[in-house]
Amino acid sequence: MEAEIITIGDELLIGQTVDTNSAYLGQKLGSIGISISRKTAIRDNESAILQAIAESQSRCNILIVTGGLGPTKDDITKKTLCKYFSCGYRRDDSVIEHLEKIFAQRGRQLLDINLVQADLPEACVTLHNAVGTAPGMWFHQNNKILISLPGVPVEVYHLIEERVLPKLRETLELPIVEHRTLVTLQKAESLLSKDLEEFEKALPKSLSLAYLPNFNMVKLRLSQKANSTAELIIDEYFEKLIATIHNDVFCLGDKDPATHLSEYLIQEGITFTSAESCTGGFIANRLMQTPGISSVFPGSIVCYSNDVKISELGVDPAIITEFGAVSEPCAVAMSKGVRAKFNTQLSIATTGIAGPDGGSKEKPVGLVYIAVSTETQTLCKKFRLFGNREQIIQRSSNAAIWMVKQVLTIPL
Ligand code: AMP
Ligand code: MG
Repeated sequence: MEAEIITIGDELLIGQTVDTNSAYLGQKLGSIGISISRKTAIRDNESAILQAIAESQSRCNILIVTGGLGPTKDDITKKTLCKYFSCGYRRDDSVIEHLEKIFAQRGRQLLDINLVQADLPEACVTLHNAVGTAPGMWFHQNNKILISLPGVPVEVYHLIEERVLPKLRETLELPIVEHRTLVTLQKAESLLSKDLEEFEKALPKSLSLAYLPNFNMVKLRLSQKANSTAELIIDEYFEKLIATIHNDVFCLGDKDPATHLSEYLIQEGITFTSAESCTGGFIANRLMQTPGISSVFPGSIVCYSNDVKISELGVDPAIITEFGAVSEPCAVAMSKGVRAKFNTQLSIATTGIAGPDGGSKEKPVGLVYIAVSTETQTLCKKFRLFGNREQIIQRSSNAAIWMVKQVLTIPL
């Protein structure tokens, strides 16, 4: 089954706002067996909206529209939908009640301009928006479904999860679509695909494998479309997938590897810290996103200058003179120094050249040393990372997370 998306808003066409709604809609509709065949971005302009909707409805039976539902004059989607469906407005009391409640909660006065949000086209069913003021709208005429949602991404997420997907499932006979995802670190997509050549050849037609690479991380998503649960064989093939590339798998599920690592450290009560030069605290920041991290994470040091490496971490100045700050001996000394300072069981240290300046022939941009130290061992590796400054920082943090798995046995 196929659907189209129309995103409405001048800001999308002048590049002020990046259209993230379509990507999200593609994922979510895909997860229930509806694939997006086309997406169109248009301005807040009546004739453009009317034309885009008519064209889209001539091609497919499901259309999702986002944007243009604000109470201000520039947003005209609702008015235009009334015109498209040749209907007037009805006032929805449940929306008034909801507006009164949220304005009271926010301590704000409900104005006439806000009440207009409760006036909806007669031709639609209201999709209650619990997180915002503009409800979603569901039109179902002549076997064609049109769903209009606000532009605000969090409101789109809420309405899709809570209202639209259940209603689409209820209304349409959809295939079952199952996905299984795993995360690999530090192995190039092309090398993974080589290892998986035989696996992919042997995949039955109902299954497909997608590679989603991002900063030294590749997510592998196995999908199956089936007509009944009895036809599902995805778990058997997911096991085969894991077994084929076992050494490269960092964790299972569509998960940030940093979350997987910090959950493991919390669960096992392993205390950790970091000394970060080229990553500037980015690794600590990723790991501290997990609630409960305070039980194992006392803090870390951003040691950008040589002085701070020496004074805060006790790095021997002779190491820096002889080998430089971007070197294996320095990374090792940093990891040992920070672990001693915070008295933790584990530490991570990074030192490298994130660029765009500061590189040389011997030490080019992207050269990064990462050391991981525990009570029994210290492991240091040299990485040659590529990309711009942001990419090198991101890649360094993923490399550091991968390094921890080289010294600790972290289950999938
Ligand atoms: P609107 O419903 O048109 O009032 O949009 C409300 C907010 O959502 C504005 O800040 C828009 O920039 C944002 N927005 C609208 N469409 C999109 C989209 N396709 N992706 C991400 N943000 C959007
Ligand atoms: Mg708008």
